[in-house]
Amino acid sequence: MVGVGTLLLLRWLETRKPLRRSIEPKFRREARNVGVAGVSAIALVLAERPIVMPLAAVVEKQNWGLLRQFRFPLWLEIAAALVLMDYTFYVWHILMHRVPLLWRFHLVHHVDLDLDASTALRFHFTEMLASIPWRAGQVLLIGLTPLTFSIWQGVFLVCILFHHSNVELPVSWERFLNKLIVTPRMHGIHHSIVERETNSNWSSGLTLWDWLHGTLRLNVHQAEITVGVPAFQEPKAVTLPRILAMPFEHLPPSWSFSADGSPEVHQSDVPQSVLLP
Ligand SMILES: [Zn+2]
Repeated sequence: MVGVGTLLLLRWLETRKPLRRSIEPKFRREARNVGVAGVSAIALVLAERPIVMPLAAVVEKQNWGLLRQFRFPLWLEIAAALVLMDYTFYVWHILMHRVPLLWRFHLVHHVDLDLDASTALRFHFTEMLASIPWRAGQVLLIGLTPLTFSIWQGVFLVCILFHHSNVELPVSWERFLNKLIVTPRMHGIHHSIVERETNSNWSSGLTLWDWLHGTLRLNVHQAEITVGVPAFQEPKAVTLPRILAMPFEHLPPSWSFSADGSPEVHQSDVPQSVLLP
């Protein structure tokens, strides 16, 4: 319910104050993204939930995992669980990009030609299925209970809806928020067709992880960003049937442009010291 409220609020703000110009009609993209999300939701309910929730119940009962070794007050256990889930999700996100098989799945999220809150729901069901063993490992090693897992799910959803959204916040707000959490301009850089820009800003909650690992990039103008993946810049290449089939197909190299109508890759020469221009 928090997710639906956040989505509707961001959707309203996106129509009032969009951050980036759109390539495709918004409604068509949203319908497509909700279609992808619907299939993934079925995969989550049928495959993830029956594994992860009972596992979290066992973890709670048997006191398995790191956090269950301490007698933390509940608020501290929840806070620590959120931080550890966020860091392990940062690692998982890098794997999604670096491991060729996982990239086939995550590619479906990245070939969206625009970025808005609906993109945050657009994960192919294969990505959902592939993440189940990782999620089970997180629950087991961190020591998540059904309560802390459910809280993480809610917080995670709100975070990804927010940073994928196409809402133009005042730059001063964004610079302030960005010291702590991932913001729309920061995550927009991760969705750029420029490979080295995509290979930055992997965090999904706290900015801290990108900052600690030296993968934070804030020096790209939003107006210069072309959203997507070079090999899939044509709207006809990213229709609903095409993206649902994408992980199972023979794919061209993601980072080379197809022969027809290659958009120009911008070379950002803004110094790194310029934050979120
Ligand atoms: Zn990504």
